[in-house]
Amino acid sequence: AGRVAFSKINPSSLQFSRLGSQAARTFSVSSSRQDAIGFIGLGNMGGHMANNLIKNGKDIIVFDVVKENVSNAVKNGAKAAASPAEVVSGVKQVVTMLPASQHVREVYTGKNGVFSAVQSGTLLIDSSTIDTSVSQEMEQIAKGKNATFMDAPVSGGVNAARDALLTFMVGGDKFEEAESILKMMGKNVVHCGGVGTGQAAKICNNMLLGISMIGTAETMNLGMRLGLDPKLLAKILNMSSGRCWSSEVYNPCPGVLDGVPSSNQYKGGFGTALMTKDLGLAQNAATSTQCPTPMGSLAHQIYRVMTQSGYGGKDFSSAFQFLREQDKKE
Ligand code: NAD
Repeated sequence: AGRVAFSKINPSSLQFSRLGSQAARTFSVSSSRQDAIGFIGLGNMGGHMANNLIKNGKDIIVFDVVKENVSNAVKNGAKAAASPAEVVSGVKQVVTMLPASQHVREVYTGKNGVFSAVQSGTLLIDSSTIDTSVSQEMEQIAKGKNATFMDAPVSGGVNAARDALLTFMVGGDKFEEAESILKMMGKNVVHCGGVGTGQAAKICNNMLLGISMIGTAETMNLGMRLGLDPKLLAKILNMSSGRCWSSEVYNPCPGVLDGVPSSNQYKGGFGTALMTKDLGLAQNAATSTQCPTPMGSLAHQIYRVMTQSGYGGKDFSSAFQFLREQDKKE
C-alpha cells in the first residue's frame, strides 16, 4: 500500500493535461488573479489548507494530479488550472503541499512546472516535508527568476489542517508576507532562519513523533495483554509522566478516542509511507552530521517494515495494529 500511495503520484506518470477541459471551463485570466493565491497539492492536508484560504475570503487557483481532489476544491469555491504553470502564470503568491522531494522537484522544475511561468516578485511557499537540500535547490532557481522560495513545513495532522490550527516552521526571507498567508491556515507560524531551517525543525519533530507513536502503541498493547481496559490505561497515561501527543491527542488504540484515524480503520491522517520518508530524511541528516540517533534509526526501520507489509497507505498510528498482528503470531 505504501508503494501504491507513492506510485499513484509518481512524477513520471504525471499528466498535467488531464484536467485540461475542466480547467478551461472553470478558469479565466483576469486582473483580479493578481490577488489570488495559487495552491498545488490538494491531498489530506492541502485540501483543508486550501479550503481555509477560501474561508478567509481569498480567491484561489488550484492544481492536483488527482481529479477528484480538484473537484472537491472547486465545489468549495476554488478555480481549477490545468498545470502548475497555469496556476502561477498570474498569481503573486503560491503554496505547494506535496508528498516528497521528487514531487516538489517535478512540480517546480518539470515541463509546465512552476518555474516555467513564474513572474518576477512571486512568493513561493512550499509546505511539503522534503529534503533540506531540495528546498535550497529550489531557492536558487527561484532567485534566478527574481522570485522568492521559502520552506514552511507543518506539524499538526489533518484535523489541525481542517481547523486551521497547524504549526508552520518557516525558512527564508519575506517572513512577514509568508506569515500573512500561513496565519489563515495555522495558529503558530515560527521563523527558523534561512531556507531549509524549517525542514530541519520539522524532521526533528517528526523523529520524536515517530518514536513516541511506536512507544505508545507498544505500551497500549502491553497494558491490554495485562488485562487493562485501554480507555482506562490511556486516561492514566495522560495524567502521568508517560503522557505525550500520541497518547493524548492521537491514541493509536481503536476506540480510545473519537475522530482519530485509529477509530476509523486507520484511514486518512498521516500515511505510514510519509512517516517512513520523514524518518529517512532525519537519518540522512543524522548521517551527514554524524549525530547519534539510535531510537530514530530503529523507528525508521519499524515503519519501513510496516510500509513493506501493506501499511504504507494507512495512518502511521497503525503501528498499534502492526504490533497486535506480530503479537498474535507468537
Ligand atoms: P497526500 O499524499 O494526501 O497529498 C499530496 C497531494 O499532492 C495529493 O493530492 C497528490 O495527488 C498531489 N500531488 C502529487 N504529485 C503531484 C504533482 N506532480 N502535481 C500536483 N499534485 C501532486 O499527502 P498529505 O498527507 O497531504 O501530506 C503532504 C505533505 O505534508 C507531506 O510532505 C507530508 O509529509 C506533510 N505532512 C503531512 C501531515 C499529515 O498528517 N498528513 C502532517 C504534517 C505534514
